[in-house]
Amino acid sequence: MRTKSLGSNVPRVSQGISWARHDAAVERLRASYAAIPAGAPVRLAKKTSNLFRPRTATRTPGLDVSELDQVIEVDVAERTADVQGMCTYEHLVEATLPHGLIPYVVPQLKTITLGGAVTGLGIESTSFRNGLPHESVLEMDVFTGAGEVVTTRPGEDLFDTFPNSYGSLGYATRIRIRLEAVPDRVELRHVRFDDAGLLSKTVAEIVDTRQYDGLQVDGLDGVAFEPGEYYLTLARWLSTTETGSEPGVPGEVPTPSVTPSDYTGQQVFYRSIQQRDTDLLTMHDYLWRWDTDWFWCSGAFGVQNPTIRRLWPKRYRRSDVYHRLIGLNERTGFMDWVDRRKGRPQRENVIQDVELPVERLAEFLDWFDVEVGMRPVWLCPLVSPGTTTGGQWPTYPLHPGTTYVNVGFWGTVHVGPDAAEAPRNRAIEAKVQELGGHKSLYSEAFYDRETFDRLYDGDHLAKVKRSYDPEDRLLSLYDKAVRKQ
Ligand SMILES: Cc1cc2nc3c(=O)[nH]c(=O)nc-3n(C[C@H](O)[C@H](O)[C@H](O)COP(=O)(O)OP(=O)(O)OC[C@H]3O[C@@H](n4cnc5c(N)ncnc54)[C@H](O)[C@@H]3O)c2cc1C
Repeated sequence: MRTKSLGSNVPRVSQGISWARHDAAVERLRASYAAIPAGAPVRLAKKTSNLFRPRTATRTPGLDVSELDQVIEVDVAERTADVQGMCTYEHLVEATLPHGLIPYVVPQLKTITLGGAVTGLGIESTSFRNGLPHESVLEMDVFTGAGEVVTTRPGEDLFDTFPNSYGSLGYATRIRIRLEAVPDRVELRHVRFDDAGLLSKTVAEIVDTRQYDGLQVDGLDGVAFEPGEYYLTLARWLSTTETGSEPGVPGEVPTPSVTPSDYTGQQVFYRSIQQRDTDLLTMHDYLWRWDTDWFWCSGAFGVQNPTIRRLWPKRYRRSDVYHRLIGLNERTGFMDWVDRRKGRPQRENVIQDVELPVERLAEFLDWFDVEVGMRPVWLCPLVSPGTTTGGQWPTYPLHPGTTYVNVGFWGTVHVGPDAAEAPRNRAIEAKVQELGGHKSLYSEAFYDRETFDRLYDGDHLAKVKRSYDPEDRLLSLYDKAVRKQ
């Protein structure tokens, strides 16, 4: 084990599991792969998921990744972490935050894993300055369809094609990422806009200057509650002097002069955006501010009703619990049954995250409100720095340096008998394309093959897949994302 010391009591390297244990976990994965008969689908056997598309059931045992969910080590001095592919961000942050460090981008849902965020694209409020999670990855080990572990780095075909490949090029078993130094407190300003055009202009200015009203902006996201009611939430990492505490060594929690808010109890974070102009959160609670109520989606289970909230155990106010409840509903058809009994039209799931160039955001929001009518909607600006050569990531070709805004909407719309045809989802795909945007693939997609290959560079993806999976053991991205396999 490598352990050097920075000062008297600050370890240079904080050890998670040993490298030998990591190697043993990879061996288990290899053995489980070898046990899958040729021709049978190769899938992950994983306890949690944040995917939102139904998948064809299979009886074949999956890849054993049960021991690949840990932090291996955090290099405090170098500000890097080596993490297993199925390690959740919740787990990773537990290991880094005591050292005053976090990943460059921490997706909001606690059980999103490093591998899932890199292969399936994550986003959060630091994305306007740090890009997407894969853009702070230094190195990866990928278990390929050929059953080999390949170490790959930025600039290599496997590495650059991996983001947005959803496991079709292999599974990341180890990822080395950069970490950012952060304080313990975050100050929030919730700024209201009546006009989406003005909000878009403000986003573009903040991206350029990293400031608003003379104060630094470290985190930036927003919510469109309804037409004419939009907010940007500007987060500022507070220095220890501003928190009124003594500067301490990394890892020591400073003593706050003002008590931070707590949205894991009776208060609901997204409501606070409309109710107060400023706020103070611990860094930990800022990172997970959206998880407790799964943005606002916990409302579907009554969890925002004060009486039910009091009775709902705190440990179950988490996105993975709600995700499991949704799974239960899908299996039992409970909501469809309720709708039929109440004579309500059939529902279409409209669960998507799309990216629009910032100057087309207002147009999209207006269109969305008329055609889909779902509220609220999450907004998260992002700028991709691009690959090491400043080029586009082939499988998700955002223009490097261009400001986009991610628009996230998660719910159902009563559309009637053609719900199975997904009319709203198809209209969203067409509109996003028309406006020069991009659609992420964690949920349902309906593109025909030709359009899909054009949007996600299917030819290049197929070429890289042939190199690392010559016998085609893994499903293709189209099979996964559109054919729901
Ligand atoms: C309602 C909702 C809201 C969302 N909002 C956000 C958001 O605001 N910000 C955000 O960042 N993301 C968001 N996501 C998307 C989420 O980040 C992606 O779906 C991500 O891929 C989930 O990662 P996971 O670890 O849960 O992976 P899973 O759901 O288990 O798997 C996702 C895909 O990745 C593949 N995969 C999993 N692990 C690996 C690995 N180690 N190597 C290679 N491939 C792998 C799987 O085969 C699968 O195809 C949202 C998802 C939902 C459902």
